[in-house]
Amino acid sequence: MTVRVRFAPSPTGMFHVGGARSALQNWIFAKQQGGVFVLRIEDTDAARNKPEWTEGILSALEWIGIDRGSYEGPYFQSSYAGEHRAAAQRLYEGGRAYYCDCTREDVQARTGPQQRGYDGFCRDRGLGPGEGRALRFRTPDEGETVVVDLVRGEPTFENKLIEDFVIARGDGSPVFLLANVVDDMSMGITHVIRAEEHLPNTPKQQLLWDALGVKPPIWAHVPVVVNEKRQKLSKRRDKVALEAYRDEGYLADAMRNYLMLLGWAPSGDREIVPWSVIEQEFRLDEVNPSPAFFDEKKLRAFNGDYIRALPVEDFVAACQPWLTGTGTIAPPPWQPEEFDPAAFAAVAPLAQTRIAVLSEIVPNVDFLFLADPLIDEAAWAKAMKEGAADLLDAAIVAFEALESWDAESLKATLEAVGAERGLKLGKAQAPVRVAVTGRTVGLPLFESLEVLGRDRTLTRLRAARVRLV
Ligand code: GLU
Repeated sequence: MTVRVRFAPSPTGMFHVGGARSALQNWIFAKQQGGVFVLRIEDTDAARNKPEWTEGILSALEWIGIDRGSYEGPYFQSSYAGEHRAAAQRLYEGGRAYYCDCTREDVQARTGPQQRGYDGFCRDRGLGPGEGRALRFRTPDEGETVVVDLVRGEPTFENKLIEDFVIARGDGSPVFLLANVVDDMSMGITHVIRAEEHLPNTPKQQLLWDALGVKPPIWAHVPVVVNEKRQKLSKRRDKVALEAYRDEGYLADAMRNYLMLLGWAPSGDREIVPWSVIEQEFRLDEVNPSPAFFDEKKLRAFNGDYIRALPVEDFVAACQPWLTGTGTIAPPPWQPEEFDPAAFAAVAPLAQTRIAVLSEIVPNVDFLFLADPLIDEAAWAKAMKEGAADLLDAAIVAFEALESWDAESLKATLEAVGAERGLKLGKAQAPVRVAVTGRTVGLPLFESLEVLGRDRTLTRLRAARVRLV
């Protein structure tokens, strides 16, 4: 039997990192089993779906390595409405479902407000279809439903505690629970790997598989992803969109490696491992069922490690979208014609060891491409204290006299200028750095001055000096 898995996102918003995690797990599982990965867009909630969210899902999947054309689909759930209705009809005709005209108020009037779920009032009333009548599944009164779950063992649900749930609304439209099962069935899905939040649906769905006469799939409910307060990651509160991480300059390799560590770890005491090792070693039955902490700080540090591990030419290439402002990435503060690729290549190795996300490249190098540096006023106030004017005067004179404009000579020169004033190099650097780059922190100063060149450096030092008068 060929393993067939599916990833079935609803296109109702930005693509959630938890969804990306489930997609990758499905993807790897299919690959390991020589199986097929199916992409199904569950777009039946017409009020909340937007075509751009679907496009966002496809491109986000592609970004983390699930290429278009390498999977089956995308299928669109809305195209199968006929099958969903037919299945509902079959369940009704087979006596497995019945029509019900109770309103929520009717039910509550009978059961009291505390009681949850449906009381079975219409079970034996023999109502036929009609406007406003929902179709309910007749759950078994006895026995239990045992879910075979690769992550959770065999969660077992007593059937008598499962209410007669709705499978089609009063307007005849089938609900998610049923549509999802019918599609999995007709797409031959053998393993359903999805987030834990769907576990409560699972006994109901398994009852539907049974009632429709098809062997249910094997399930794997992977842990919910939580923030540092152990709250489920939510789009209202947390940064959850994969696209946001991409645009901030997380590398796809770092991101997908990190996502796979949510609830699982490769062998040995290591976290940063080649993707091929993850693809080989990942096991669904090793996934820890408890909530997985999405640690943004750790992800950042992780990304920094991945950035540092890149060959420098790959790093230069990876920075391009931020240097030019591509797609949804904001343009840099300089004009395209001001950008100098040679100057960038010269400082790239220095930047590569210092940034954790690629978007940080821009504030580190903007001084090279802007006619005037962007002065951070707080940095200016901090660096341009008493003695700064005198130091800048001396530095200007000493730099003007330099024969060779290179980092080493610049450093020796400023060291001497500082020493004459009883200043350590760090203190002597501060006013020069702010005058030239506009900031108190950044790339190593003397290499920066070397690349910026004599004229521009001196012009900026003089301009700062004028401002201090
Ligand atoms: N469309 C559902 C969701 O996005 C997925 C359901 C499933 O994977 O079975 O939550």
